[in-house]
Amino acid sequence: SLTSNGSAPDPPEHRKVALITGITGQDGSYLTEFLLEKGYDVYGLIRRSSNFNTQRINHIYIDPHNAHKARMKLHYADLSDASSLRRWLDTIAPNEVYNLAAQSHVAVSFEIPDYTADVVATGSLRLLEAVRSHIAATGRTDIKYYQAGSSEMFGATPPPQSETTPFHPRSPYAVSKCAAHWYTVNYREAYGLFACNGILFNHESPRRGESFVTRKITRAVGRIKEGLQSKLFLGNLQASRDWGFAGDYVEAMWMMLQQEKPDDYVVATEESHTVEEFLEVSFGYVGLNWRDHVVIDKRYLRPSEVDNLKGDASKAKKVLGWKPKVGFQQLVKMMVDEDVELAKREKVL
Ligand code: GDP
Repeated sequence: SLTSNGSAPDPPEHRKVALITGITGQDGSYLTEFLLEKGYDVYGLIRRSSNFNTQRINHIYIDPHNAHKARMKLHYADLSDASSLRRWLDTIAPNEVYNLAAQSHVAVSFEIPDYTADVVATGSLRLLEAVRSHIAATGRTDIKYYQAGSSEMFGATPPPQSETTPFHPRSPYAVSKCAAHWYTVNYREAYGLFACNGILFNHESPRRGESFVTRKITRAVGRIKEGLQSKLFLGNLQASRDWGFAGDYVEAMWMMLQQEKPDDYVVATEESHTVEEFLEVSFGYVGLNWRDHVVIDKRYLRPSEVDNLKGDASKAKKVLGWKPKVGFQQLVKMMVDEDVELAKREKVL
């Protein structure tokens, strides 16, 4: 057999199997926890990197040598390697495919636009094509695809943004996400694939990458509070975002794939705050004044900026019955609390 531990998989009728690209990321880790809880077997495709990057899923990893217990399994693949995608699809035969992998940083996408397009746009196409050819070869009808879309696709179009709002992307990342969105729509229309686009507004958590503005701020709050740093360098403080909690958003992904028909959904809190407001609340929460610490550094300004994102998630609420559980204040507190603890641990090292 073909599983990493050498044992034959259970017959497909007895298990629900999910395949996740980007499993080592913020959303991949929350989605894996959520699906394991629901009884799924979860297979994650991970990219080779010289440094281990599995910190976010180490707590749920079980060594495959204890195979009877391991319901999350990891395999090497890459969105830039079509044959690896097709091979794992054929081997794993998942019921649900979640495409969460990306070069996901907007500012970095201006530095490496070609790579960003290859992974985010063409990578999604490669995965869709792998799913399509796997279906053509096997005749399976029980496979569903989720595409991680982004509110960045709306870019310069003013809020509130819904499923019917025109896209006006403002970065190589956002343009690539638009391409992935339309590839997904096309595979649905052309081949009848059960494929959904989740247009997720910014979603954060203590697991957010440290160069995204929310986590960059809460990391600094923790370290400043513990006396480990004094300055925080930031770019545009007037940008406004609809920030939700990643743990809530992965549920919406799963819900989309449980519907009768595939469709596209905006997922958002419907509340928007500026970066400056995020600073007020996060520094204020530990009794600090952000103005004593923040320094504007022009290198964090972007060649073209997205000023204002605020979602209209009424379709997800109505059709999926989804709503966010964690609000803005609660999200900021959750992140600051964890980052104060992290800074305390850093201090004793
Ligand atoms: P994005 O919405 O996907 O680009 O998420 P980010 O968290 O990277 O950025 C959110 C907003 O914060 C953008 O409008 C940025 O221009 C703004 N911002 C201001 N200073 C910074 C910074 O130092 N780092 C990042 N990542 N964003 C910043």
